[in-house]
Amino acid sequence: MSKKTAKKLVIANWKMNPVLEKDAEKLFKSVVKGVHALKNTEVVVCPPFIYFDKLKKVSKKINLGAQDAFFGDRGPFTGEVSGEMLENIGIKYVILGHSERRALGEENLLINKKLKGVLSSGLIPILCVGDEERDVNHEYFNFIKTQIEEGLNGINKDLLSKVVIAYEPIWALSTTLGRKDATPADSYEMNIFIKKIISDKFGVKTEMPRILYGGSVSEKNILDFIINGGIDGVLVGGASLDSKKFLEIIKIVETQKNEIN
Ligand code: PEP
Repeated sequence: MSKKTAKKLVIANWKMNPVLEKDAEKLFKSVVKGVHALKNTEVVVCPPFIYFDKLKKVSKKINLGAQDAFFGDRGPFTGEVSGEMLENIGIKYVILGHSERRALGEENLLINKKLKGVLSSGLIPILCVGDEERDVNHEYFNFIKTQIEEGLNGINKDLLSKVVIAYEPIWALSTTLGRKDATPADSYEMNIFIKKIISDKFGVKTEMPRILYGGSVSEKNILDFIINGGIDGVLVGGASLDSKKFLEIIKIVETQKNEIN
């Protein structure tokens, strides 16, 4: 397998936080202030849509991402925002298929349509996949396989290297009741499995998407995940709402120069 030396991604998913624009601005400003001349890391912050305008004015040093986008460019879709609209205001990344949206009823077919829409608008989709539990019969592998196959269905294989996949086991998210820790070995295993699904579907010569891990990533476990998790970066939820913790995660990722398989 060829070695990738691309920058590692550290993506903040702020979810539906903070409630006040002034707090969003304050949080973003502290992150911007703490990020200096990164050579090995790309940082992306995904706030609620309504804060884009304000945050864009604070700094261009950090890329902004959306937490969802609809397919199509415009039209009778009340409440939706299209990839083209996001591209027009300078947004670069879009999280799709997050488990919290899937829990609201979003299914692979819709996520696939959104992913195609986002790609055709020139944005980078971050496709989230994740198992609810680790069953003894290892059915969770099939669950992830279906999410990947249906999520990427019909994508031109030349566009796959533009896609980012985030493996986020739901049982390891910080907000899951009775959660358990996922290990870097879990992440590594799933990383290999996802690459196998993609090479089976698109051919062995396919240039792979970047693969991230997400689920209670913190300043305490990031080093282990980056060194041993086989990943191209991380998606950070809870810890990204604390600028000190988030900056520490970025610092640790930045200082790890190991090559990623
Ligand atoms: C997430 O829900 O995308 C996430 C990564 O959350 P957390 O880091 O809080 O587990």
